[in-house]
Amino acid sequence: MRAMVLEQFGAPLKLKDVPVPKIGPNDALIKVRVCGAGLTVVIMIATAGRIKSFPRIPGHEIAGEVVEVGSEVRTVTVGTRVTSHFYLTCGNCRYCRSGRETLCENFRGNVGSGCDGGYAEYVVLPERNLVPIPAGVTDLEAAVASDAIATPYHACHAEAQISPGDNVLVTGAGGGVGIHMVQMARLCGGRVIAAEVGEEKMELARAMGADEVIDARRGELVKQVKALTEERGVDAAIDMVATSETLQACLGSLAPGGRMVIIGSKPKSVYGSEPSFVVNPREFMRQAQEIHGSRYVNNAEIARTLELVKHKRIKAVVNRTFPLEEAEQVHELLRKNAIAGRAALIVS
Ligand SMILES: [Zn+2]
Repeated sequence: MRAMVLEQFGAPLKLKDVPVPKIGPNDALIKVRVCGAGLTVVIMIATAGRIKSFPRIPGHEIAGEVVEVGSEVRTVTVGTRVTSHFYLTCGNCRYCRSGRETLCENFRGNVGSGCDGGYAEYVVLPERNLVPIPAGVTDLEAAVASDAIATPYHACHAEAQISPGDNVLVTGAGGGVGIHMVQMARLCGGRVIAAEVGEEKMELARAMGADEVIDARRGELVKQVKALTEERGVDAAIDMVATSETLQACLGSLAPGGRMVIIGSKPKSVYGSEPSFVVNPREFMRQAQEIHGSRYVNNAEIARTLELVKHKRIKAVVNRTFPLEEAEQVHELLRKNAIAGRAALIVS
């Protein structure tokens, strides 16, 4: 089969012909149709130690069709269209059993790092990871829904706890996850203040429903947010950029009782410095604020996200698609922050 293979740490992805992988009793073999491509993959393969053995095929926003199942598999059959959860978990620990599988105590890495992923014609995935795609949702929509739309579902609902009437700041609002965060925050009833840089991404955020759009290049993010909220600040600030500057600005933009949600990750290995920000404990306590780390989603949240897509409550914003063999070029565009909305590889 054709696959984009990472032969060693730091190497570019290379198109290779490799054997179709074999399944175990609890796995399914998926014929990949579409695989999303975003910064998560770019950062994962550029971070030393994340991928423990090479060669490795990356890619986790997978949509495809089951073509073979192991002897123990019960919940999907040949022909089922599926997408996948991103984490390789045990299913048995206290976190897995309470719907918080992203905190699994026996975590085995991610799809595309702990096992081969979807930048290939076929991928083997554990049954536990699979989420059937409902009729009426395309493969392209489902691939993106499994991370770029599902992550906002968890962040807005479980972490930011957005209620109707809340003011919500979203940084990085025109990116692959951000553009769906804007829509999800609105769906939860929020008035969305989108912060972005670059006319194309700002325009996209506006087009996808942001109530206000802030040009982050102008600086003074806190001042701009306060000016749009009668100096009160926002009830929730969701930071997907997560540099020292945006983290500090998101905290500074919070209204009393406000929730700050951190989703972005800008590791030193990729971006040159480790981000940090300062919390004044007295102010933080006095204003009864909260800081949440939002870590992906559980399987049930992916299923609910797919329902939202099916019923047209959320639009999958995939502005650019590429053939599988152009994965490296897509990664280069992502590194340059040059893609508005999500990008995806059309595999077969
Ligand atoms: Zn577990």
